[in-house]
Amino acid sequence: MPTDLETLLHLQEKDKAVLSIRRELDALNPEVEALDEALSEVEAELAAATAELEAASTVRKELENKIEGYRLMQERKRAKLEFVKGAKEASALMAELDLARSVMAQEETGWLKSADRVESAELRAANSKTAVEQVGEEQGPSRKDLEARRAECLARMEAATAERDEVRKKVAEPLLRRYERVRGGNAPFSLYELHGDACGHCFTHVPKHIQQQLINRNTIDNCQVCGVMLFVQPAVASE
Ligand SMILES: [Zn+2]
Repeated sequence: MPTDLETLLHLQEKDKAVLSIRRELDALNPEVEALDEALSEVEAELAAATAELEAASTVRKELENKIEGYRLMQERKRAKLEFVKGAKEASALMAELDLARSVMAQEETGWLKSADRVESAELRAANSKTAVEQVGEEQGPSRKDLEARRAECLARMEAATAERDEVRKKVAEPLLRRYERVRGGNAPFSLYELHGDACGHCFTHVPKHIQQQLINRNTIDNCQVCGVMLFVQPAVASE
């Protein structure tokens, strides 16, 4: 039957395997982020272009409505002119028509400008759309490759986690709790081998009597400074 130390070391080995796959997975993130960033840049430009196009179209539509309103008003005035009898009233109406014509001419100039703006906004939006499509296409192979790598890592992760969980079951509950408590702390791992006469993690000197206990009784003791579980390999201990 394996000793507590052997079982714990086995568990730590499995935990290290899981952690190393976790790191591989994490290492994929910057690559995904770089792709996302490049894509969101062109997407932001498309959103801005679309907003500009909408605004320009609204202005154009408003001007069209306004001009149409003037046109109807002109028509009514012209119709009225036919029935006007007095010369004074007729000349007043003519003056109104003249004024309205010049206002309308101004609005029409404005409409031409707004139509130009719509046209250039349409061009910008079309170009942005092409850019988004292009970037999406260019990124296709990289994204596929990243996805495949992630899937491969996840499959290994699943296997490694299952193996780790199997080993966990073999560790006595209080010992497992001790092990997990250290692992959740500042040290990346729980078990550290005695390094000469010092803790293998924080390299603080370990009192002689504890060193002796670790060697002679093959026990696991926590470092009094950093708290990791200290051990001596049985092979070394038997020398
Ligand atoms: Zn220590």
